[in-house]
Amino acid sequence: MTTDFSGLPTGLTQRRPLLWLNPAYDAQADAHSDPLDPAVSEARFARCAGLMRQVFPELRPTAGLLQSPLTPIPVFRDSMACGAAAGDWLLKRDDALPVAGSVKARGGFHEVLALAERIGLDEGLLGDDTDRAVLAGPAARAVLGRHALAVGSTGNLGLAIGMIGAGLGLRAIVHMSADAKEWKKQRLRRHGIQVVEHSGDYAAAVAAGRAVADADPMMHFVDDEQSEALFLGYAAAARELQAQLQAAGGRVDADHPLFVYLPCGVGGAPGGILYGLKRLFGAHVHGFFVEPTASPCMLVQLACGLGRPVSVYDVGLDNRTEADGLAVGLASPLVAPLMARLLSGVLTVDEAMFYGDAWRLETLEGIYVEPSAATGLRGPMQILDTSQGRAYVQACGLTDAMGRATHVIWSTGGSLVPEDIRQAFRARGRREAGAA
Ligand SMILES: *Cc1c(COP(=O)(O)O)cnc(C)c1O
Repeated sequence: MTTDFSGLPTGLTQRRPLLWLNPAYDAQADAHSDPLDPAVSEARFARCAGLMRQVFPELRPTAGLLQSPLTPIPVFRDSMACGAAAGDWLLKRDDALPVAGSVKARGGFHEVLALAERIGLDEGLLGDDTDRAVLAGPAARAVLGRHALAVGSTGNLGLAIGMIGAGLGLRAIVHMSADAKEWKKQRLRRHGIQVVEHSGDYAAAVAAGRAVADADPMMHFVDDEQSEALFLGYAAAARELQAQLQAAGGRVDADHPLFVYLPCGVGGAPGGILYGLKRLFGAHVHGFFVEPTASPCMLVQLACGLGRPVSVYDVGLDNRTEADGLAVGLASPLVAPLMARLLSGVLTVDEAMFYGDAWRLETLEGIYVEPSAATGLRGPMQILDTSQGRAYVQACGLTDAMGRATHVIWSTGGSLVPEDIRQAFRARGRREAGAA
């Protein structure tokens, strides 16, 4: 069987930034037809809130729940000059999530809590109805300390799993790819977490971690390419966003569409979030992933069909980008099929755009995010101000509703970036913004 590349958009292999509309998108597709149920992760976060509050003091203000602010960015919006139909632009601040400082906290907390609960049940520390806070006690921590966690990562997932695992008393080992930033490794090591460095890319680090964990029955492997627990942890963000939109008076219905822009690496975080949102809002939410021009792995997989894995290398791209967490060559085989009919499209952005937009966001709104987390800021423009975007809006019958639309730009990381690194990012951002 040969791969059919004919569905790839013009300009993709030349790394031209573009908007790809998913021809298989089905507004009526039912996210409920799949057995993965975000009610599982919502319930786990609720019953573990007491435990989380004890172990992580940063979570006390939210009573042990993981939450991030939803912030209007009107000055940034007006600077983009999208006119009267611009609608409301909101930034979902997962860059500010406690403990891990990125969207990875959502999936990571859920998977590590599920593991700690399972160990607790297996070892007789917990019954079904026991308060999960007992896992913070000395006896439980001694038991948890005999168990290990491993993960393969370009950086942020390792940071999240390492910090959360160590917080709960588990031994954590993080396998980092060559592109992982030095400060992330140093931060983990400072917290007593073992970092193993690999010379290959993200997929190679995952494979290495998986092999080590497979050989050790006391070691759990967090598999970013396959994990339902990570996926469901991300999906729980949908209810949080729904409550925040309601509190702010933002409606989501046929006259008030919701557009969401989600930076995509392997696909777990954006896929889980969109899956959760589709269950709540159905056809009224329009989900777009954002990928670097060098690493559009979800676009490539969906455009070439799901018959076999297709990577960005297969289409002649090199997967080299400064966008941490987004340098992934092959989409998750768990998530790609789930997105086939739910995802409206993918936009690709280059370094000049996301460095420049990160700098503009900080200059105009006083919000610092890391470059990969700024990729979604191009989303509304791509919908409102390109022929492809207008074609999508028209096909959905939304041309007259766009002035009442809400655009949620998911900011996925940044609060842990050290000041000296921020300064370097800012300098490049100022240059890129001036050149644009
Ligand atoms: C990991 C990551 C993403 C994307 O998540 P995936 O599950 O890999 O698709 C987006 N932004 C940042 C900052 C990340 O670290």
